[in-house]
Amino acid sequence: PQHDRVGDLVAHAHERYASVDDGTVADYIPVLAEADPAWFGLSLASIDGRCHSAGDTGIGFSIQSISKAFVFALVCDAIGHDEIRRVVGVDNTGMAFNSVVAIELNGGSPMNSMVNAGAIATTALMPATNADERWALIRDGLSRFAGRPLMLDGEVYRSESFTNHRNQALARLLQSYDRLAIGPREAVDIYTRQCSLSVTADDLAVMGATLADGGVNPITGEQVVSAETSRDTLALLAACGMYERSGEWLFEIGIPAKSGVAGGIVAIAPGKGAVGAFSPRLDSAGNSVRGQRACAYLSRALGLNLFASA
Ligand code: GLN
Repeated sequence: PQHDRVGDLVAHAHERYASVDDGTVADYIPVLAEADPAWFGLSLASIDGRCHSAGDTGIGFSIQSISKAFVFALVCDAIGHDEIRRVVGVDNTGMAFNSVVAIELNGGSPMNSMVNAGAIATTALMPATNADERWALIRDGLSRFAGRPLMLDGEVYRSESFTNHRNQALARLLQSYDRLAIGPREAVDIYTRQCSLSVTADDLAVMGATLADGGVNPITGEQVVSAETSRDTLALLAACGMYERSGEWLFEIGIPAKSGVAGGIVAIAPGKGAVGAFSPRLDSAGNSVRGQRACAYLSRALGLNLFASA
């Protein structure tokens, strides 16, 4: 559709859902509980580099699990489609993002890179000679997706590092099954750092649009990952990006997406662009309530559903 119409729809989606106050702000990572539940930002970037935003699109928040999508892309690009599928897997667990049971029921497999265990295993697969180099590759890689240098939110990193006992346990469990390529402490530390990178809704839209555009950042023009890797990442997001609600999400909205517990969502329309949403109130699976409603509205209004023939 015409660009001024797209801008109107983004503004309208924001206005329409700004007063929804279902859901609760995450508090299992203490600092996240300080988020203002009223925050709501909506941004859309198309593959020709145009952006439209409404609301709190400049407020920084931690990327959290949305980092999993982009770290997957970097690692898949580095080690290849077959290897990531063999070592981590690409099937939905049907369980919560931090499930221990999912690993036990599947013979020690982390199942996919979009749940915590699989994301920790994926981070560990990033080829590097030491921890500093691995972290630099991840931070710089995610920054190339955003088209600007992303910074670590030290407060989130510390808060999460002090309380991430469950992620430490998941990493140890993977280690016990010989499923972790590096030591569990380092793997969880780098995973925690990647989750603590600060982004805005505008950043998420550009990061998503890069995957929509075959790996080319529509603002900087840089080829961040290959077109094949972008395709693989979107397929995995469709299956697993919204955790155990991925089926419901695809049924209602029809495009690949990834959420994070700080309230971000990136929803990606292949060959078209991406929506970045931010609002901290979450449903019981950890997905932003307003973000989901706004993505559903925009998918319908802009005809983004991949499964629609007309
Ligand atoms: N860093 C968070 C965790 O490991 C990410 C979870 C999420 O965003 N769903 O628990």
